[in-house]
Amino acid sequence: MKHAWFSFCVLVVCAALASFPAEAAGPASAQDGPRLLLHYPSVKAVKDNKVFFADGTWLPYDEGKPQTLRQKLEHADIKDHFAQAYPALAPIAPPALDFDPGRFRNDALLKKLYGATKSEVEKNLVKITWLPANEGKKLLFNCRENAAAQLQKVSNELDRLPPQYMKYLKNIDSTFQYRPIQGTTRLSPHSYGIAIDLDNKNTHYWLWDQKYRYENLIPREIVEIFERHGFVWGGRWYHYDTMHFEYRPEMFAEVQ
Ligand SMILES: [Zn+2]
Repeated sequence: MKHAWFSFCVLVVCAALASFPAEAAGPASAQDGPRLLLHYPSVKAVKDNKVFFADGTWLPYDEGKPQTLRQKLEHADIKDHFAQAYPALAPIAPPALDFDPGRFRNDALLKKLYGATKSEVEKNLVKITWLPANEGKKLLFNCRENAAAQLQKVSNELDRLPPQYMKYLKNIDSTFQYRPIQGTTRLSPHSYGIAIDLDNKNTHYWLWDQKYRYENLIPREIVEIFERHGFVWGGRWYHYDTMHFEYRPEMFAEVQ
């Protein structure tokens, strides 16, 4: 009976959680502020609707504009980073319509964290060793906010996967590239040196497909290694980009 009562309680709690979209889950600074604080060393406080940085400056958290998903994509405020909860370590499945957790990015925050201009970002780039035992190639990544250190951890772990995984991991398409997102004027996360594209031979990208058809070839083991270290994967998005991984630790409760 105890067991049945417990199961009932779990069901009720789960149902209650499921009925609240992430966006409505209370004052965002209380819910999500700790994640910014926890995972970004230069964020020092989130209070009074502001995100404070180590250099004494701040950015607004919730700019309060009612926004459609499309407007959020184009003009996300920091709160919008958390508009959709990222399904870390979940089984891989076609995402629901317009479910794009991690695609909302506040440009001012990324500029603050990683460099405001191309030359500022370039000064923060360091080399990491990709697959030390299997390939040993050097890749450029941003050293701020532990991004490069986390990619090195990912690389070291991927390097220990069995040989059949290496075909997905060799011939990396790109890391740092200062450019807009295809079809937009917004800067790509590659511009900040916080994103990596695997070999484009194995990828599916919604903009390249004639017709919308979600497909994925990237093994779950690879996705999970990235996710455990704070990288979101474009294969979790309705607007899929299955070669794309991006350092976005605020999307995770826990990062190794
Ligand atoms: Zn990419």
